[in-house]
Amino acid sequence: MKESGDSSNVPPGGQDVTAQDVVVSSLPAQDPGQSEPEAHYRLSQPPPLTDWERRQVTILFGGLTVAHERLIEGAWEGLGFHPKALPVPDNEALAIGREYCNRGMCNPTYYTVGNLLKYLFKLRKAGVPHIEERFVYLTAGSCGPCRFGTYEAEYRRALKQAGFSRFRIVLVQQARGLAQSTEDSGLKIDRGFILALVRGLMVGDLLNELGYALRPYEVVKGSVDDVLEQGRRWLYWALRDRESPVPVLRRIRKRIDKLAIDYSRVKPRVKITGEFWAQTTEGDGNYRMARWLEEEGAEVMVEPVGTWIDYLLWKRMQWVRDRKGLPTAAAREMPGLAEVRLRVGQIIFDSVYNTYRAALGFRTEPLASMDVLGRYADRYFNTRVGGGEGHMEVAKTIFSVRRRKAHMVISIKPFGCMPSTQSDGVQVKVMEDYPDALFVSVETSGDSEVNAKSRVQMVLFEAQARAREEFRRTAERFQLEGFPKTQVDEAKLEMPLPMTPLPRREIGTAANYLWWLQRPAALRSLPVPTEALTELLRKYRRR
Ligand code: SF4
Repeated sequence: MKESGDSSNVPPGGQDVTAQDVVVSSLPAQDPGQSEPEAHYRLSQPPPLTDWERRQVTILFGGLTVAHERLIEGAWEGLGFHPKALPVPDNEALAIGREYCNRGMCNPTYYTVGNLLKYLFKLRKAGVPHIEERFVYLTAGSCGPCRFGTYEAEYRRALKQAGFSRFRIVLVQQARGLAQSTEDSGLKIDRGFILALVRGLMVGDLLNELGYALRPYEVVKGSVDDVLEQGRRWLYWALRDRESPVPVLRRIRKRIDKLAIDYSRVKPRVKITGEFWAQTTEGDGNYRMARWLEEEGAEVMVEPVGTWIDYLLWKRMQWVRDRKGLPTAAAREMPGLAEVRLRVGQIIFDSVYNTYRAALGFRTEPLASMDVLGRYADRYFNTRVGGGEGHMEVAKTIFSVRRRKAHMVISIKPFGCMPSTQSDGVQVKVMEDYPDALFVSVETSGDSEVNAKSRVQMVLFEAQARAREEFRRTAERFQLEGFPKTQVDEAKLEMPLPMTPLPRREIGTAANYLWWLQRPAALRSLPVPTEALTELLRKYRRR
């Protein structure tokens, strides 16, 4: 539905927006004798920002990890904006969200809307003047088909109920990519703004992935986080000064290579998938699952936000291909070069991501190929079904199992999430076809944390046993039984530099470390990431 700031179209009753308003006012007039149809409903908007306000306004945003948000702040500050990431949503935000939002929403709505209100209440309590003029909230938007499409209305409704009826919500429409249209809100979001966002997301992904890959093996507790925190500051400064992050990523790599690491610790690799927000947040919204798993002895694989960007490009390409040759307006609207342009966009995106990975010595994984994920999911899930993560939840589970990426997969879905519930149903069939896979689906509701974690613990126990068995088998293969035998042996173990990519012959890092020990001594410290390159080549070959 098109929005407009035209106040003449505001329905009687003011700005209180409900789904009923939209439906009822869109219907044709009931009285057959009435010739004039009712005016189409238009969502009322606060007046656009003035030039002065635009330069001063603080852009609030949130919903990602702390690393992503800090780096995005730097990237946007470099463009002259004043961004401010909200704190990680907690259960207090959930309670506020439940109080002000409609009933029957999914969990991320309550957490994110409540988090914004919680912040605004704090400002109001602190006596900050002109909150509605000095702050706007930037969030992603979509036309659905899941509740994501109703977020904007929920934000507006809750803000109005909380006494912030003139507060501005600025939407970045995820389907529009670089061509945003936000003039209505008075905040001009252009190509540079979106590219800065993408750059911040990419480096945030890499820092997060490195943290989860290295922390379980650090000899000095906290040493990896210390370096990554320093690296995050460097990257923030680089992005704010509009410099390339590549030299900084190289510097981070050198700093990490000075840390002591012990890869002989046998740990199961656990992949976290699920609904986008639930798998990404680092707070109560997913029971701080990733950090908790780490404390329980797992090596966690978090999903990069980059996968989502790749997915949006891929979906758009699928949309274009499906309409090729159709004599419809939609097909004519898309120029013939649309597919090529999207493909080039995807290649550029992947290339930049891999350039950043190269600066980190290819220690982090490449993004999974969307074509491969699509192929894996195809038997189980219609890849044209939208909403939430679409077919990706199912595809990522299969990918982790078939490509031997993880001992166990956890899918985190928020309470009330329709697309994740659909995926969970399909996962039953996937598990039937891949009986060796260890999979657990967790529904997060804000409470029942103990129940959810005890279910995860049971499967994690099995994953730990598998990791130990894999290590034993690999040690036996190389006649390293009982390896390492004593504390003294451990101290003498030769270790690769932390940023050296290990072979990917087994699932577990410790077992792969044994493979690394079999490399000729002269090749062990070579920075040539043969496995990473093989992976990359395979990805492009199978597109
Ligand atoms: S994917 Fe699920 S949790 Fe996320 S917005 Fe849609 S319905 Fe809500």
